[in-house]
Amino acid sequence: MTPTDPTSGSVPRVRRGVSLREANSFGVECIAEQYVEVRDERELLDALAQARRDSVPVTLLGGGTNVLLLDRIDGRVIRIRSRGVSFEPDGDAVLVRAAGGENWHGLVRACLDRGVSGLENLALIPGTVGAAPIQNIGAYGAELASLVVGVSVIDTYYMRPTTLDARACAFRYRDSIFKSDEPGRYAVTGLVLRLGDRGLETGYPDVGAELRRMEGDATPQRIAEAVIRIRRRKLPDPRKTGNAGSTFKNPSLSARELDRLRGFLDIDAFDAGDYFKVPAARLVEQAGWKGYRRDDVGVWPAHALVLVNYGRATGEQILTLAQRIADDVARKFDIELDLEPQVLGHD
Ligand SMILES: Cc1cc2nc3c(=O)[nH]c(=O)nc-3n(C[C@H](O)[C@H](O)[C@H](O)COP(=O)(O)OP(=O)(O)OC[C@H]3O[C@@H](n4cnc5c(N)ncnc54)[C@H](O)[C@@H]3O)c2cc1C
Repeated sequence: MTPTDPTSGSVPRVRRGVSLREANSFGVECIAEQYVEVRDERELLDALAQARRDSVPVTLLGGGTNVLLLDRIDGRVIRIRSRGVSFEPDGDAVLVRAAGGENWHGLVRACLDRGVSGLENLALIPGTVGAAPIQNIGAYGAELASLVVGVSVIDTYYMRPTTLDARACAFRYRDSIFKSDEPGRYAVTGLVLRLGDRGLETGYPDVGAELRRMEGDATPQRIAEAVIRIRRRKLPDPRKTGNAGSTFKNPSLSARELDRLRGFLDIDAFDAGDYFKVPAARLVEQAGWKGYRRDDVGVWPAHALVLVNYGRATGEQILTLAQRIADDVARKFDIELDLEPQVLGHD
């Protein structure tokens, strides 16, 4: 049996009509027509190949923290549970290899415990290592893209494992080849990151202020601690209140569009070179939605970008609220807001 022979080997048990309520951080009900968990690349390859043979559509799921699930998902949901992290010195740096099913924050902790810097600003982002490159996770002045050496994938076009370098991943702000250019083509099985050879990132205003409050020198551990404190203050814990973090991406504006907006709204903007990024949270708040609640759907009172499920909300209700907010922002500011989580399934 060779790694590229997808027709042999055993496929883990496929279950039918499985509830995904516990498998998504919004905590909404969704029934997967078929559901299977895979523990390594071999099982993933087999599960993908079998689905192809049976003409069954596939949906990949990691921690379910960046998806908005509707009532049903047709076909096969494959959840990647592969484990393993290794460290290899590489000159002044360390190459870190992590399997796709590893917990992202667990990886951040493992690096900090070994004294390997680079991931501290990305502490406490929920979800898996395999999903991290999908939207090029980022927070508090750091982005995954700058740390990636390679992304191990199964290319479902050829049904074989391969590795994409950072350039081939076409990383952009909350975007990549995996999310926009060729959605569904690649199943991510692992990441190789180059860490430990850069200066610390303390320029993000909230992080700087928190570090000053904590006193003492900035170290990777302290930066992670500062980020964790900020996140715990601002964001609801999905184990208590269903959410998927930011519901909208920050919009990119041309200099002209920014001038027009600033004609009637005092708003910060981040100069990204060719364009300016403005905080979507400010637009949503200004439009009056922060703290809004109707039945079990609402906007988190401490963060206008976070839509929440207070109990038994459905994915459809959350999506409807997101659309109402986006329509209102478009009407008031003439700016389009794009959803950040992936909407999966149907009513
Ligand atoms: C409280 C909270 C805070 C958050 N803060 C941030 C933040 O600061 N920055 C940030 O960038 N994100 C943030 N997020 C969003 C989310 O945590 C990340 O996007 C995370 O990477 C999603 O991981 P996941 O395993 O849960 O992916 P899932 O939600 O399971 O999947 C997301 C998408 O990736 C696809 N996918 C999943 N695994 C794979 C794979 N192995 N191969 C191919 N495709 C795959 C899925 O099909 C889906 O389209 C936050 C979410 C929450 C709930």
